[in-house]
Amino acid sequence: MKRGTQKRLNDISAQSTNKYCADCGSPDPKWVSLSFGAFICIKCSGVHRSLGVHISKVLSVKLDDWTDEQVEALMSAGGNTAVNKKYEVYIPKGNRKPKPDSSIEDRLDFIRKKYQLLQFASFDDQFFCAFPPPEKRTSKDNGNQEKRNYDKQPTKSRIGNAFRNSWGRKDSERRSCKKGNSLVLSNSMAGMVEFIGLVKVNVVRGTNLAVRDVITSDPYVILSLGNQSVKTRVIKSSLNPVWNESLMLSIPDFVPPLRVLVYDKDTFSTDDFMGEAEIDIHPLLSAAQACEKSTACEPMQLANWVAGKENTLAKDGIISLVDGKPRQDVSLKLQNVERGVLDMELECVPLSQ
Ligand code: ZN
Repeated sequence: MKRGTQKRLNDISAQSTNKYCADCGSPDPKWVSLSFGAFICIKCSGVHRSLGVHISKVLSVKLDDWTDEQVEALMSAGGNTAVNKKYEVYIPKGNRKPKPDSSIEDRLDFIRKKYQLLQFASFDDQFFCAFPPPEKRTSKDNGNQEKRNYDKQPTKSRIGNAFRNSWGRKDSERRSCKKGNSLVLSNSMAGMVEFIGLVKVNVVRGTNLAVRDVITSDPYVILSLGNQSVKTRVIKSSLNPVWNESLMLSIPDFVPPLRVLVYDKDTFSTDDFMGEAEIDIHPLLSAAQACEKSTACEPMQLANWVAGKENTLAKDGIISLVDGKPRQDVSLKLQNVERGVLDMELECVPLSQ
């Protein structure tokens, strides 16, 4: 990130209006829903992410590389007080704003109603002008027609529409009691686990990877943690690909190992397997948690992983301090394949961020 951009982002996050999570009031939020311009805590950020990026795009103040445009967009939202003035105009009885120690279910219920269904939002705002409130509708019939069209749409676009058709929020609330929508809701609930932090993985490069297409391969990497998985782009015709791609995963409270899979992209058949590995992220997470507790993080608190039979490291995986944050550089010997090494850099952000 450019220094000027970083400074502006730091300035915005230091503003008094952004000192507490816009949704639950936890102090010192380090995450932002860029879609709404709200500073949020890590627990609420997990809920925002579960709504999907089409509803709420979440960025980390500390870990993500922000563009000028993104900082600009955040600035124009005007901070948490301005955001809540828009999205929490009126909170009807029976709905309670979550507290820092609220359950994930309470958070999900509130955040979904606040940002996705816009049940507490203001109609006076410019944003909603294109969608007149119910009393301004020209005739009842129009509304019914809208609802019929809405019901015909596939579930996915219906969820997206709930956002735009803010004036139809009563309909969508009623619908949520019906079979269709409660299924969507319970599905997203099932996917919710308590997260204790995030891991940012920079997939740097592969070296001497296996050949899968006559003389070369089109490799890509899949990272999975618990039931989440993310993947890099495909690098065409290379056995020494350089991705330099950063991917983020939430760390569930049972901290599963980070699984790494390498595949060769094939256009006309199933992708070919090019090796796998597993990384225990406990040492890095512990280092990050230790760092958080002490103001001046001592380098000697950091672990040093030795390459050996018990793990899949090709080189020692040293956890070092970079810009005051613990980072682990790993070189993975890919398993169940004839050859190949994968270099990655890992960073962890613990819960309290
Ligand atoms: Zn929060």
